[in-house]
Amino acid sequence: MGPYRRRPPPVRKVQGMALVDRVLLGPGPSNPYPEATAALGAPLLGHLDPEFLRVLDETCARLRVVWGTENARTLPLSGTGSIGMEAAFANFVRPGDVVVVAVNGLFGERMVDVAGRYGGEVVRVDHEWGQPVDVERVLAAHPAPKVVAAVHAETSTGVRSDIGALAVAVHTRDPGALVVADCVTSLAGIPVSIDHWGVDVAYSGTQKCLGVAPGLAPFTVSERAWERRLPKPPTWYLDLNLIGAYVDGSNGGRTYHHTAPVAMIASLHAALGRVLEEGLETVWERHRVAGERLREGLGELGLELFAAEGHRLPELTTVRVPDGVDSAKVRQILLSDYNLEIGAGAGAFATSVWRIGLMGHNARLDRVELVLGALRRVLGR
Ligand SMILES: *Cc1c(COP(=O)(O)O)cnc(C)c1O
Repeated sequence: MGPYRRRPPPVRKVQGMALVDRVLLGPGPSNPYPEATAALGAPLLGHLDPEFLRVLDETCARLRVVWGTENARTLPLSGTGSIGMEAAFANFVRPGDVVVVAVNGLFGERMVDVAGRYGGEVVRVDHEWGQPVDVERVLAAHPAPKVVAAVHAETSTGVRSDIGALAVAVHTRDPGALVVADCVTSLAGIPVSIDHWGVDVAYSGTQKCLGVAPGLAPFTVSERAWERRLPKPPTWYLDLNLIGAYVDGSNGGRTYHHTAPVAMIASLHAALGRVLEEGLETVWERHRVAGERLREGLGELGLELFAAEGHRLPELTTVRVPDGVDSAKVRQILLSDYNLEIGAGAGAFATSVWRIGLMGHNARLDRVELVLGALRRVLGR
């Protein structure tokens, strides 16, 4: 495992909790942008304070830019990325609706579960893990689904799928079908273009490329989908009708539904400000360059990539654990000696694959060199 062991500095504790400055290069959470962290320390505002409502409105406006949409219903939901998935199926699937789900990893698998819980008649289209979604096969799975759902950036495998091509194909056949896209790991990391693609419902999470702590799920709904929403979904907390009355004041005022997580929204507001200041395209390019250098460096270490070539995400790289190497031991040494977190594989690949994230603030060449240098030492290469 290499002769050299670096001991990190002693750990400070506050109220019994260790303050360890980890470099989070796993599948999420990633280290937040400094602007997002700073915003968490600002004095708290009430959730109906006009000053906070201005921040909320601006957050929604900034989200529209990042999503590439004019959708009026674009807002952060309270909860992690999974709450976005839950809200998508809860508000747009009626019992018995046929829901075609493309499954090419863990999160597609989770969509099957969630859509089924809300009464969807799920038709799953299984793909080999590590492969992108095959639009033709998804289309052929059912002649007239009400909803077609797929994951844009499969964090479990490091694969990007062509959601734009899927949405166009679905709507060419049936303009009334809804396309649901999981953009948890793609938003603010790789290009997302909701209106151009014609995606109807999409959700994300703050803890990946948006560079904020976990806790919010940016969400967007097209007009076509809004017309088709359930007037009274079987969930109170995630009822978009009720949430909308607070977020956009659609009842003429701002009606209390649940207390908005004001600190988290302020943090998202700051991160989005940072991203838009840097420039969305520059941010995408920063991710692209970092991912490319990581793949190149892993190759130089003699490691083999897992995701299908040509479909690899820059923000999440999957790499095979070399034969004879204890996957968990390596991750543990990276954590204890380098303060560096990388992820285990998902599902059947838990011990045979590592997942290295370069998301948001971590999509930088210095982070790439850090993880490559640490891996080189730990693996003794
Ligand atoms: C992380 C992730 C989720 C779930 O988000 P949580 O923040 O863990 O709830 C859903 N889909 C994808 C693709 C993800 O990467």
